[in-house]
Amino acid sequence: METKSIKAFGTPAADKSLEQLTIHRREVTAKDIEIEILYCGVCHSDLHTARNDWGGTIYPAVPGHEIVGKITKVGSDVTKFNVGDLAGVGCLVDSCRTCESCKHDLEQYCLTGFTGTYNGKDKHLGGHTFGGYSEKVVVDEHFVLKVPANLNLAAVAPLLCAGITTWSPLKHWNVKQGSKVAVVGLGGLGHMAIKLARGLGATVTLFSRSAGKTADAKELGADEVIISTDVEQMKLVKGKFDLIIDTVPYVHDVNPYVGTLNISGTIVLVGYLGGLEPFLNTVPMILGRKSVAGSVIGGIAETQEMLEFCGKHNIVSEIEVIKMQDINHAYERMLKSDVKYRFVIDMASLKN
Ligand code: NAP
Ligand code: ZN
Ligand code: ZN
Repeated sequence: METKSIKAFGTPAADKSLEQLTIHRREVTAKDIEIEILYCGVCHSDLHTARNDWGGTIYPAVPGHEIVGKITKVGSDVTKFNVGDLAGVGCLVDSCRTCESCKHDLEQYCLTGFTGTYNGKDKHLGGHTFGGYSEKVVVDEHFVLKVPANLNLAAVAPLLCAGITTWSPLKHWNVKQGSKVAVVGLGGLGHMAIKLARGLGATVTLFSRSAGKTADAKELGADEVIISTDVEQMKLVKGKFDLIIDTVPYVHDVNPYVGTLNISGTIVLVGYLGGLEPFLNTVPMILGRKSVAGSVIGGIAETQEMLEFCGKHNIVSEIEVIKMQDINHAYERMLKSDVKYRFVIDMASLKN
């Protein structure tokens, strides 16, 4: 298969910094679109993958799955896009397209596994996929999103992961006018969860460890902030919420949050992957018909719906634009929760 070599930024090993390297992209096939990447958001999953937190990272790893850019080439059978259009690519670039999940627009739950934008199995070239910390990406048009033209393009990039990952559970659990929603953690996902829940008409509470984020949270649309380490404050919201979206990336005690759900309420874990510690107490779940659930990103149709909602309601991410060369420092700041509230890489810096 014909390929071209392009510049990218990635890491050769879990304990190494990210650096410039060369990767290969396929030439467009009939259904493909080639996108020149203008901006790429920095998700905590990029950091988990670069450092092999989840195991299974294949090196060199080129992260990045919050991609927006301009279309530079389209294959002969492409119908939805033209050269020059703006486009977005999120966390998935392929799936089987035939299983029950795929047939119901749930590509993220493809029964044979979706192809991640990075660290996935590259069905075209063999080897693994490389993400958006690169000059260009080539993707089947089914997995390419139309981007609303009225929004700041750099601030749209995080919608492709942080946006859809929080939108999907809000929709699945039917959040609407008057719903009582809480969000755990004010980072990339958390700040989008606040904005989107508010956009859907919910009242929103933020649970945070960081008292310093209260004013920001209210500006983003939270009605109330509860410092999760303060037992007295936690008591104030006992039995209150219909839905909690928990975005914390590392193992933490979920039990105090279960206590703040109302009867039949659900806490959806979208951050931490792995066993819960110290334990999960089933008593409040059984006696209050409460659920502890999980959710991963969202399907392509649902992502398009979310982008259109954001276009209509003027919702974008709060961003700090960085150069590609600043990525290692950005990861260190992310580990300290020192991000307001999403880093976005200006990919023009990769050309220098
Ligand atoms: P982020 O920007 O780093 O935000 C995470 C927030 O969680 C922090 O701002 C902090 O908020 C809180 N936090 C961090 N460490 C904590 C700890 N040890 N204990 C308690 N709270 C802590 O990360 P993100 O990009 O939003 O991603 C969040 C998680 O979601 C990551 O694990 C990522 O891999 C995952 N993710 C999942 C999906 C999915 O499809 N399910 C998609 C994208 C990302 P406060 O300072 O307010 O406490
Ligand atoms: Zn992500
Ligand atoms: Zn499938």
